Amino acid sequence: MGISNRADNLYKPAMPDAPTNPLLTPIAALRGVGPERAAQLAKIKLHTVEDLLLHRPRRHEDRRHFRSIAELELGVASTTRGKIVACGLKKWQQGRKSVFELVAEDGSGRLHCRWWNLPFMQNYFKVGDELFVFGKPNSLKPRTIDHPETEVIEPGEEVSIHIDRVAPIYPLTEGLPQRWLRSLLWRTLEQFEPVVAEPYPDISAKLIKTRPTRANALRMIHFPAELTDIEIARQRLALDEFIGLQLAIQSRRKKLEAGTRGLPCAGDNHLIRQFLAALGFKLTAAQTRVLREIRHDMGAAHPMRRLLQGDVGSGKTVVAACTALMALESGFNVALMAPTEILAEQLHENFSRWLQPLGVRVDLQTGSKKTANVEATKVGPPASGIRNPASTSPAPSSVFIGTHALIQGSFMPPNLGLVIIDEQHKFGVTQRETLVRKGRYPHLLVMTATPIPRTLGLTLYGDLDSSVIDELPAGRGRIKTFVRDSDKLPKVWDFIRGKIAEGRQAYVVYPRVEDADTMSGVKAVKVEFEKLQKTLAPLHLGLLHGRVRSEEKERVMNEFRANRLHVLLATSVIEVGVDVPNATIMLVENAEQFGLAQLHQLRGRIGRGAHDSYCILMASAKTDEARQRLKVMEETNDGFRIAEEDLKLRGPGELLGQRQSGLPPLRFGDLAEDRDLVEQARRLAAEHLAG
Ligand code: ADP
Ligand code: MG
Repeated sequence: MGISNRADNLYKPAMPDAPTNPLLTPIAALRGVGPERAAQLAKIKLHTVEDLLLHRPRRHEDRRHFRSIAELELGVASTTRGKIVACGLKKWQQGRKSVFELVAEDGSGRLHCRWWNLPFMQNYFKVGDELFVFGKPNSLKPRTIDHPETEVIEPGEEVSIHIDRVAPIYPLTEGLPQRWLRSLLWRTLEQFEPVVAEPYPDISAKLIKTRPTRANALRMIHFPAELTDIEIARQRLALDEFIGLQLAIQSRRKKLEAGTRGLPCAGDNHLIRQFLAALGFKLTAAQTRVLREIRHDMGAAHPMRRLLQGDVGSGKTVVAACTALMALESGFNVALMAPTEILAEQLHENFSRWLQPLGVRVDLQTGSKKTANVEATKVGPPASGIRNPASTSPAPSSVFIGTHALIQGSFMPPNLGLVIIDEQHKFGVTQRETLVRKGRYPHLLVMTATPIPRTLGLTLYGDLDSSVIDELPAGRGRIKTFVRDSDKLPKVWDFIRGKIAEGRQAYVVYPRVEDADTMSGVKAVKVEFEKLQKTLAPLHLGLLHGRVRSEEKERVMNEFRANRLHVLLATSVIEVGVDVPNATIMLVENAEQFGLAQLHQLRGRIGRGAHDSYCILMASAKTDEARQRLKVMEETNDGFRIAEEDLKLRGPGELLGQRQSGLPPLRFGDLAEDRDLVEQARRLAAEHLAG
């Protein structure tokens, strides 16, 4: 749906793209690049000189110091060098199977290199060739490497590029030789290094006091003089990427502020006072502080753009309600958007209970359900200019709660003063923009329960101010987390039965809806539902997954809330927002199938009441590595630590949903590791835009 395209526009590349930029010269125009080579390069997305210069080596090989063949160790990847003394191809099974083997010698010993079922390898080698070999010996008697990387040294040719130096090893495509590409890079650098411009001269002037120039960095990333040069160069090039991102983000915000005035939405407290008096609990200090920040924004000259982060259960919904009341008090309508129907319905229920007594209309709009007369809200493009609607519209203001349906089609509440997006990580940057652009720049509050590691926050939400609720309401029971082997399941069920006998309820989450994979033991909720109905009788079970119809979903949720269902079997659809304080057990089967941040969200469904809660993560013993990863969940309840861990393990796309992350690919930067660089880029970009 064009999300990625839009996102590309949001993050413009850092390099200047005037038609005169020599780095935009097509590779095909370079000497020595014929149509065939150009086509191969295009396959790995190298079209221009710039693409070529930014083609990051996947590793480097120190060809000044390599191991002799005798020094090779079992299982240790290393580079060695030798001369081919024998080679040959063996075939069997009518030629369907084969092995090509060569023997290289360097005076210290002999090394066998084998390629299985790749008979054409014989075309690349002949006795007498000198070659580099890189790989892990899989046997020492005789010394053997299967499927090594090799490079034949051509006598007398470009010695300083390929050998006796730290040589770059590039990602390739079929038919593209490593040496040819390396020579091309060398020649291209020789020719174009002098015209590599600094993307932002004023920023670079500061940068190059401590870092190489961009031109130098490009030279160093391809042909470093020392191994340490590689990281120095990478950091400089990563900084350029981050600066480009930050400039795009920050100038978007500036543009918004230059062109718009904030609607007067700070309110006068008369509804909030009544609301808080009837709430039944006192706001935490953190909630109060965050509301002060929000109130300031809602009355400021520019529309609020604020990200509210708070771990699951920290009480963001109440903050959202107070924020909505500020706008309502000021006579404006409010739109509240949730990622799933279940969550939208739950918010609708809460907001109705809280706000209807104050005379506020609360409407629900989801894909399958509308409580409002949509026709009435289908108005044309927003009128420009700011009126005080309180003086012209006597009708009570409304809160419109919905899912994506809110941003699709022509839905457009009149007098929209505030947009609240709950659980932002399920929406993309683009969707956020779409919804906001529907009004006359209403205030925007984005709420997320996925703690966003700072680097990612600065990049994805760099245009938003940030508030954090860093305190949970008092009086919560503890959550204990256990990672358990899947063969302990019967004992786990005994434990759960015990808790249910005490009056509690349980969630059980499975990775799949119906296609269980018995081979790998991955379970499906529909299959387990059938089984457990029998084995857990007389307990009452509910079933919830993405393919359940809305009315049925709602019925199940209501039954569960009323404690008429003891166990709710579900997929991760219950991940966000669902709030049933009496449910104190979260059992996740095949936990290795979920990301840590996702598990943390699931765990956030429990520990909401006064009783102690238990999160049990089942993983099969076969997935040992995954079980190590899950240990983090036992160690900490700190969503930020878990998110950082997840970011390292799975990258930003996984954490956010690949499609939604909306980030352009970074060649040199790493959002999980480069926190300092991102901070520096943010500062530099701000200084640049300040002029
Ligand atoms: P989340 O931040 O995950 O959206 P919720 O807003 O759903 O959290 O709040 C979780 C639970 O805590 C709800 O039942 C809510 O009513 C309750 N709650 C919120 N704020 C407070 C508070 N200050 N004191 C006690 N309970 C609170
Ligand atoms: Mg919530």
